[in-house]
Amino acid sequence: MHVTRRSTLKMTAAGLAALGVPTIVPFAACAQEGGDTYDTESGQISIFPVSHASFVMMVPGMVIYNDPVGGAAAYEAHPAPDVILITHEHGDHYDPETLSAITGESTQLITNPAVYEMLPQDLKEKATAIGNGETTSVGDIEIEAIPAYNTTEERLQYHPQGRDNGYVLTIDGRRIYIAGDTEDIPEMRALTDIYIAFVPMNLPYTMDVNQASSAVAEFAPVYVYPYHYNDSDVEAFAQQVAESGSETEVVMGAWYA
Ligand code: ZN
Ligand code: ZN
Repeated sequence: MHVTRRSTLKMTAAGLAALGVPTIVPFAACAQEGGDTYDTESGQISIFPVSHASFVMMVPGMVIYNDPVGGAAAYEAHPAPDVILITHEHGDHYDPETLSAITGESTQLITNPAVYEMLPQDLKEKATAIGNGETTSVGDIEIEAIPAYNTTEERLQYHPQGRDNGYVLTIDGRRIYIAGDTEDIPEMRALTDIYIAFVPMNLPYTMDVNQASSAVAEFAPVYVYPYHYNDSDVEAFAQQVAESGSETEVVMGAWYA
């Protein structure tokens, strides 16, 4: 896993270097095997891409899973989650079987209201629903639900406005944005002070790389992970971010290794 990921990054970085893209940061520092690490005010955040939209994030004092799907085996290498974030009901984000298998006695789920209504009763008892614009907190972590929706006419049926969530987490002085399935909505472009962002780019469900790079150039996170991209041209995304003059660093993870 670790080796595969690093060789993937090397190839990606080499490919981008050939394109003259200077801002790619293939993180080699690993506090835990396979993780990308970032400093916070008093500790570190480690990020472990699992696949597509699923990842594990270890932060000071807490383990957070985002949209875990794909079965419990995919998470065996990681500590049990304290918090599970679920953005919306689609199968690449919400899988009750995976959730039941990985949810522990003290795990808390944070979901959008539509998923909350779908949860099996035992999971619902551990869940908190927050809608667009609402906030909650778990321990010292603040969680705000950011809208996530389609704006292009022929894509509106995938993610209607008001139903699904992205999240901004404030963790030990850092703001982390998980976009969910969305296009380059005004609420994304208006974000400020984002340290790490996860931004989707795949058609027809979310947006194309041009929309994604344009939005990223505007809200200018310090780091951005393209995720949820399938066969989209993420190297073009990275090049466009670089050419925008933004200082955002594009981080490639092994989402599809
Ligand atoms: Zn979706
Ligand atoms: Zn999706």
